Parts: sequence; C-alpha cells; structure tokens
Amino acid sequence: MELSSGLDSVKTQVLMTSFHTSPKIQYCKMILKVNKTTPTCMVLGDLGRIKIEHNIDIRMLNYWFRNACNNSLKLSNVFYRLLLNLSISGVYDASWIKSIKDRLMKFNLYEYWERQNSLSINEYNVFKKKCKQNIQEFYKNEWINNVNESSKCYLYKGFKTELKIEKYITKFPDNLRIIMSKFRMCNHKLPVELGRHNNIDRKFRFCTKCNTRDIGDEFHYMFLCTFFSQEREKLLPKNSYRKPSVKNFCDVMSTDSNKTLLKVARFCRIIMSNFKL
Ligand SMILES: [Zn+2]
Repeated sequence: MELSSGLDSVKTQVLMTSFHTSPKIQYCKMILKVNKTTPTCMVLGDLGRIKIEHNIDIRMLNYWFRNACNNSLKLSNVFYRLLLNLSISGVYDASWIKSIKDRLMKFNLYEYWERQNSLSINEYNVFKKKCKQNIQEFYKNEWINNVNESSKCYLYKGFKTELKIEKYITKFPDNLRIIMSKFRMCNHKLPVELGRHNNIDRKFRFCTKCNTRDIGDEFHYMFLCTFFSQEREKLLPKNSYRKPSVKNFCDVMSTDSNKTLLKVARFCRIIMSNFKL
C-alpha cells in the first residue's frame, strides 16, 4: 500500500501545484502590497525565492529513485515495476510514470531513467544532491529568462541581477518597504505605467511635470525631471545624477549602502506621492 499511498500523495501534490502555487504567490504579493498583476518573477526576485514547484519536483524524483533502484518484494516496488511494464508495453498509460520521465528529462537527469534497471540504493545520496542542484538551477534560469523577457522588467532586469532577498524587505520600516516594492515593481501611477493601462504607445507616455517630452518613467524621475531637482539634490548621491545613465540608475537601486538606500526610498516616496491621482 506504500506505493499506492505514495502515488496518491504525489498525485495530490501535482494537483495542488496549480492551486497551491497561485495562492502562495498571491499571498507574497499581498505581503509586499503589490498588485495581483505584478509579474511573478519580480516578486520571486525581490524575495530571493524560486518557485514552490521545485520542492514537489525534488520529492517526486527522490521517491521515484527509491522505488526504481529497489528490487525487493515490498509492495511499493512490485507496483512500480508493474506500472512501468504496463506503461512500456503500451497497455496502460500511467500518467505518474510519464511525469517522472518528463521531469528527469527536463532536469537533465535522464541517464537515471535509462539505467533504472541497474540503479543501486548506494547511489541515492549522489542522486539526491544532483537532483536538488539541477532542479534549483533550472528554476533559477527560468527566473532569469522570465525577467529578461517581461516588458515590465525593462529597468528591473538592470538592477536585479541576483536571486536573493532585497535588503529593503528585511531592514526597512513597513512604510518605506512598501514604497520600494511598489517603485521597483512598477506599482505606481507614473506616466509610463498609466500609459500602459490606457494603451498609449510607450514612446508617447510623456512626463506631465516638465516640458521635456521625455518618457515619464522611473529613470526620468530619479535623475532628470526638473520638478524634483531640490529633493534629488538632498537625497541622491551627486555622482549618480550628474552623469545620468542606466548604469548609475541600476547602481543606485541596488546600492549596498543602507544609508543611501534609505534616502533612495525617501526620494521614491516623494516621486510617487506626486502621482497619486
Ligand atoms: Zn519630467
């Protein structure tokens, strides 16, 4: 009955993946006080987390390995062999067997599938370690790809290069933490975002505070807009805005200095308070 209960538990995990992941992400968004439509890669990025699915994948593959390499008369092993043979002969298409095979392929572990008849339990620790590494690597790469491909991440991808929790989340008081999350994750009403909601082409989402006809995005307000000159001088390091560049913007947003980051957050609060509508 072990296999049956094991399979049931794995099946439940798989079924729960689609239901469980979404509420978890929605919960993270709620904690960060960002909109439900905020790209998941931004939320995972600032929290320094990979998708919860990776735990399910690891558990499924470890469970499979223990069954595949054991030829004992334990009911779980007998059932596994039976299910595998039925699946290979085409008599019964076992979805669990297929999902294991797909995962081994997806995570670059297919060699274990191919030699499952000669696997030994002595290899389990090596498999377990490799399995964890490969799966975590896969989801990290998926996160990088999602950040690079999302149009909302056009600035985010510049200052968020590492999947680790942001200092502002753990060190800042709630009010500034929320401001930083919102500013970094495009949860604001700057013209660039407002224009997106109103289907205005990005190149026409002009600043409404000065008459430069620059795009009213985070970069413009952080470094260029004359409307915020005084506050900028007070709060940002001079060398950052005197020669404005995307690199400087990214450096300011990902600064290691708590003091500078706190000032950046205060400046972001001033900017956003002028676009409340
Ligand atoms: Zn402006």
